[in-house]
Amino acid sequence: MSFADAFLSNRSQSNELRSLSPWSFRDEGTVIKGTTCYSDFSSNDYLNLSRHPVLIDRAYEAMRRFGMGSTGSRLLSGDYDLYHELEHALSTLYGGREVLVFNSGYHVNTGVISALMKPGDVIFADRLVHASIVDGIRLSGARLFRFRHNDMSHLADLLARERRRFKDALIVTESVFSMDGDVAPLGEMADMKDRYHARLMVDDAHAVGIYGENGTGWVENAGLCDRVELITATFGKALGGFGAYVVCDEIYKSFFINASRPFIFSTALPLPVVAWNLAVTEMLPSLKEPRKILLENTIFMRDRLLTAGAQVTGESHILPVMTGTNDRAVALAGFLRGKGFLVYPVRYPTVPKGQARIRLSLTSGHTRPVLEACSHVIAEFISLLPKE
Ligand SMILES: *Cc1c(COP(=O)(O)O)cnc(C)c1O
Repeated sequence: MSFADAFLSNRSQSNELRSLSPWSFRDEGTVIKGTTCYSDFSSNDYLNLSRHPVLIDRAYEAMRRFGMGSTGSRLLSGDYDLYHELEHALSTLYGGREVLVFNSGYHVNTGVISALMKPGDVIFADRLVHASIVDGIRLSGARLFRFRHNDMSHLADLLARERRRFKDALIVTESVFSMDGDVAPLGEMADMKDRYHARLMVDDAHAVGIYGENGTGWVENAGLCDRVELITATFGKALGGFGAYVVCDEIYKSFFINASRPFIFSTALPLPVVAWNLAVTEMLPSLKEPRKILLENTIFMRDRLLTAGAQVTGESHILPVMTGTNDRAVALAGFLRGKGFLVYPVRYPTVPKGQARIRLSLTSGHTRPVLEACSHVIAEFISLLPKE
């Protein structure tokens, strides 16, 4: 049996085999498959921007003018004024810090960490950081220490014990965590990186668009834009586009242009995508109303779920409802789907054993009746569980 065969049959036996299952259409908190329509609690389109008419017009305009492909990497034929306008607009939102656009969040996280850190350096990363961060660390060859999720005393211990044996040090975390919906204590981390002469990198993927006065994310919300050496964020989630960027100092920007392999060796984003990203960046500070609705939806839904007896964690628009076992997470997701609500179970090994859950992604497009109805279905499921 080949390695691929063995791998697949292994996954199949442990009920962990994944496959693709396409949707037909998605808009305003609703998703359609064939003739079935669901209320969508699964997408990252937190502000319902992915089909915004103004953004569509701007992308369309760029499509007419430039066509689709950018025809080369940015160091060759793929660099255009529009790219620089985008970086300038982002820079303004981040108080004048430099910005470099990458092709995706995966590119930026792997590209930044692998360029900056080397064998002989050390990286301290939250145990739950995204795979793109883990892969960047692996590529870098630096030594990795993982601290328990959001556990600052564990991080402090590791820094005290390990930091001085290595040359450069980097502390890496997400801001809002995608599977737990909780938020890293960024202020404490910024103090610690100063004390231990380390750099701090924060991945704002699930917070950009949603938090902060300008809507740039949790780092802005925490008032730390000047103290976090590297902020990364994606256009692919709340911003409804595609691509990503790093906020950094000028010298790092020049360095990444020269040394970051995912930046150098990949065709630049299509111009319609860059135009979309620029338009949404210009729009960001004014999106106060959808941000407010999303936060109100979050408070409302959390309250309903707690009243229903659900075990809800986190402090953001991502609401994990804990189920304990994998089987129960699958059962609850199936129960919800049967009643017209799309959610996905999150199981071991994505989360630790015994901490399976479903993950409700709230958006500003969810209406109160839809939230109410969804919480009723979850309450019904809980009432049907055998008493412990
Ligand atoms: C989605 C995600 C990424 C990857 O971003 P893409 O633009 O989708 O490649 C990186 N980090 C985190 C925390 C994410 O959730």
